[in-house]
Amino acid sequence: MTTTTGHRTFDSFDPATGAVVGTHPIHDAVEVRAAVAEAGVAATWWAGLGWAERRRRLLDYKAVITRDLARIVGVVHRETGKPKADATLEVVLAITHLDWAARNARGVLGPRRLFPGLVAANVAATLEYLPLGVVGVIGPWNYPVFTPMGSIAYALAAGNAVVFKPSELTPGVGVLLAELFAEAVPEQPVFRTITGLGETGAALAGDPGVGKIAFTGSTATAKRVMAACAANLTPLVAECGGKDALIVDADADLPAAADAALWGALSNAGQTCAGVERIYVVDAVYDEFMGELTRRAAAVRAGRDYGPITMPAQLDVIRRHIDDAVAGGRAVVGGPESVRAPFVDPVIVEDVPEDSAAVREETFGPTVTVKRVADAEEALRMTNAAAYGLAGTVFSGDVRRAMDLARRMRSGMTSINSVISFAAIPALPFGGIGASGFGRIHGADGLREFSRPKAVSRQRFALPGMNLTSFTRGQAELDRLVRVVTFLHGRRKR
Ligand code: NDP
Repeated sequence: MTTTTGHRTFDSFDPATGAVVGTHPIHDAVEVRAAVAEAGVAATWWAGLGWAERRRRLLDYKAVITRDLARIVGVVHRETGKPKADATLEVVLAITHLDWAARNARGVLGPRRLFPGLVAANVAATLEYLPLGVVGVIGPWNYPVFTPMGSIAYALAAGNAVVFKPSELTPGVGVLLAELFAEAVPEQPVFRTITGLGETGAALAGDPGVGKIAFTGSTATAKRVMAACAANLTPLVAECGGKDALIVDADADLPAAADAALWGALSNAGQTCAGVERIYVVDAVYDEFMGELTRRAAAVRAGRDYGPITMPAQLDVIRRHIDDAVAGGRAVVGGPESVRAPFVDPVIVEDVPEDSAAVREETFGPTVTVKRVADAEEALRMTNAAAYGLAGTVFSGDVRRAMDLARRMRSGMTSINSVISFAAIPALPFGGIGASGFGRIHGADGLREFSRPKAVSRQRFALPGMNLTSFTRGQAELDRLVRVVTFLHGRRKR
């Protein structure tokens, strides 16, 4: 479609009914460039406000979002199909991150004096973290508030302006988030949303005025975004997919483990980057755990406890993975008949071969595979064999053992005796390794991700007889230096 202003447009839909929720412009490369240029001017103004005023404005923004919670929840519900209660939880989590980023930016990024070392005792060393300018945020549709806010809040708190390209499935949420920001910061377009399809995101990633891209989405798209960033050597934080595992050890609280596993696998219709897609259960407790899991799963239903599959094309992947799992394993809850588009009822399949697509590829649906293992070590080996490395879960009655397993899990985050609890703790960094991407959002690392360290060394006075960086330097000065270094570093510790 084309509007009277000559814009090509696209619609967003309610995935449960197919009804049109909103119509938005497709911003082209010229408009993206103009938006980034305006954001560049706004970034200078925003950085110039200083820590205290930025904090005040961001806390204002937080208050605006909190007061408008019901409106945001309504748009999230309509564009993703998720139940309003889940949408509420998502917005509340985003609010806690915005609050943390606003309150902690100065402490993490502000100037500090560092000990210069004895060899440079006459030099004052200062470190501070400066903004990058304009941060381009490209977001997915599954958590259209929480996920991009993990970049937006931290980038803004670090003193950057943000140009946000939401998913074409959830543009209304993105537009609303920027509109509400303008209530707290009306003077300049410090945070603005551009809408469109994949090529709008590609134009943002390839824009030379962008200081960093924060991408959240699939691993395949991340590679395309990284290629676009390469043209200008634009740095990138890539938050991609996952194939997270939950390990149930022999001494785990089995009802609690089953309850958490089910929620981790099915909530948001399984459309969660850090959702539970694989479960490994130690032999000694396998049957009891499966009893708990299947009994609970029988009471959960799509369309009531969770919403539809938001992206129609994902249904094909889910169907393929269910067929693949059932062909190699044994369906204990649901099966191919569980797909009644756009809804998918819970599917649990046990004993699926580890080399099948259902175990190796991200499904992004309300399905989970369960495998019996000899012990937690075997579970960890299988967990770590995935190409992805986003998050994971350990259920164990022994804290030391659980901590040991968590540390050795090849993932950015691990929760013990709960699922996805790390996402609710703003101080903890969030991000993956391997096919799950690189870089971190949230926490102090998330603030530093959107800034650049600036080191300043200021000579306070000349050290008599120790001017080492001068052509007037003599052998005596060098000898003195070697004596000092030998005294400081020459002793072997036994
Ligand atoms: P996609 O990779 O399809 O899209 C992500 C974003 O990239 C969208 O805004 C999309 O726009 C945009 N895009 C598409 N093509 C390009 C391009 N060539 N250049 C620049 N941008 C482009 O992911 P989904 O939206 O389907 O999200 C689901 C994925 O996100 C899953 O893999 C999930 O695991 C992952 N995810 C990861 C999280 C994490 O923190 N690690 C959190 C949440 C989700 P458009 O929609 O308009 O095509």
